[in-house]
Amino acid sequence: HAKKIKHKEGVYYSIDMQEKMEWRLGLIRQLRHDFARGKLEVWYQPQLSFDDLSLIGCEALLRWPLENGTYISPAVFIPLAEDAGLIVDIGQWVLEQACQQQKRLENEGTEICIAVNVSVPQFKVKGYAQTVKNTLLKYGVDPKNIELEVTESVVMDELDTVINTLKELKALGIEVAIDDFGTGFSSLSYIQSLPIDRLKIDRSFIKDLNNGDTGAVAGLVISLGAKLGLKTIAEGVETQEQAKFLKDLGCDEVQGFMYAKPMPENKLLEFIGKRNT
Ligand code: C2E
Ligand code: MG
Ligand code: MG
Ligand code: MG
Repeated sequence: HAKKIKHKEGVYYSIDMQEKMEWRLGLIRQLRHDFARGKLEVWYQPQLSFDDLSLIGCEALLRWPLENGTYISPAVFIPLAEDAGLIVDIGQWVLEQACQQQKRLENEGTEICIAVNVSVPQFKVKGYAQTVKNTLLKYGVDPKNIELEVTESVVMDELDTVINTLKELKALGIEVAIDDFGTGFSSLSYIQSLPIDRLKIDRSFIKDLNNGDTGAVAGLVISLGAKLGLKTIAEGVETQEQAKFLKDLGCDEVQGFMYAKPMPENKLLEFIGKRNT
């Protein structure tokens, strides 16, 4: 049982909570500082077609390296960036990095789509679709070569506004994927009214396939996608057995450590070069 300490406004926190808040504030301060100094990196993880394992795209994933050579997980710092109001600027920066990377690859002869994760606060900014449009124009990127990944939490937040923004993005020719699909426990009925292109099956529905898990949820998402005319992509595929299972169910695309881990932008060029030789 944690010891209680008294906060100056008379609120009681446990020592644990106090420490946790200080830890969070420290990280936020350091994140703000490191972002401003250009220390963040964007890495890319290949996405392949299940049919012929051709490269169809990459997901852009933020990396925050520390002085000592280790990395803080985005699963830890993205929520902090969201709370601290930093995610709008950081997210815009990621989009710009992705646009530049897309262009660089295209100039090297590989035209693929780059998927960028979008958080709720970014989506809520007025004129978000217009900002995305302007960014693509700035770098001369064809909208079909940028995909936005949003979670169910984005979609369920002020559904009407979100649908309008999605429609605007769609009209621009940008693809939209629902990330971590099936983990948000949202009502399924909304999904058929959304102008989206792809469902990403969350890793949690894949990691235990052939290990006691019957794959019922993965199968459900794949057939739902097929019925709605949406592509399905499996994330977090690590084994041959998982891959075979998903492919047999009709899953279209795959992303996972078995094929390629996220890598820095120069490594991605090498990866593509090796595949082409
Ligand atoms: P996500 O969007 O679902 O990204 C997929 C995550 O699964 C990535 O973790 C990726 O490295 C990991 N992954 C892919 N294949 C495998 C596999 O075979 N095995 C395992 N164990 N993991 C695999 P990562 O890079 O740590 O990112 C975690 C989350 O942080 C992302 O989940 C996304 O929600 C968030 N994130 C990352 N970059 C950004 C960003 O630029 N903006 C926003 N808003 N969120 C981001
Ligand atoms: Mg994602
Ligand atoms: Mg995901
Ligand atoms: Mg996930």
